[in-house]
Amino acid sequence: MHTIEAIPAFRDNYIWVIRNNQYAAAVDPGDAAPLLYHLESEGLALVAILNTHHHADHVGGNLELKEKYSCPIYGPSKEFIPGMTHPLSEGQQVLLPGLGMTLDVLDIPGHTSGHIAYLWEGRLFCGDTLFGCGCGRVFEGTMEEMHASLMKLSSLPGDTLVYCAHEYTLANIRFARKVEPGNGDLVEREEEAMALMKNKLPTLPSTIELEKRTNPFLRCGVSEVFESAARHSASRPKNELEAFIILRAWKNAF
Ligand SMILES: [Zn+2]
Repeated sequence: MHTIEAIPAFRDNYIWVIRNNQYAAAVDPGDAAPLLYHLESEGLALVAILNTHHHADHVGGNLELKEKYSCPIYGPSKEFIPGMTHPLSEGQQVLLPGLGMTLDVLDIPGHTSGHIAYLWEGRLFCGDTLFGCGCGRVFEGTMEEMHASLMKLSSLPGDTLVYCAHEYTLANIRFARKVEPGNGDLVEREEEAMALMKNKLPTLPSTIELEKRTNPFLRCGVSEVFESAARHSASRPKNELEAFIILRAWKNAF
């Protein structure tokens, strides 16, 4: 029996820990200290580090953790990941015998050019690509890549649980409500997110189905979102990709 726990790190990162009663794997341990504290207090051995991309707030704890646990480090083959032992790309799998887990790898470039996601039994660990009600900034990849990656994730089954690497949901909902004021699901989601945050609980995991109902970056083809993007831009978008590009730039300045 596995459990998944959120270990808060820095200001708004989550290190996701997948564990049984003996072993644990950590997704994107940007800081070793909070994870070490958790592993030690729970008596767990770290058997794998799973990195989604190379940013320091995701890989910063790698070397210290590897030193202590001699664990393999998985990450995107196209990026430099400190201590990486197993470079991965789409189609490959990660086998974690101690945890009895096999994870699939998806390529989702855009936020960084080699960004990957891990999919395990209806659970998606998507780093900084898809956020609760938002998406990552496009730093290294192209807008086309980011849009295609988000469409790929939105095609996963609706009940797929989405484990994002940052707690950005509430701020993202504020932007989403600006873009799509007529979407009643957003009002409900905002109330739920505020109640969770008030109790110091993560707003995650989300689900693909909830993101498709509320996340403007997955809804560029919905008429209210498309028209909102059109109004925000000097030139009318010709397709969903162009509407996505307008929304992404709008959010950067929001
Ligand atoms: Zn990042």
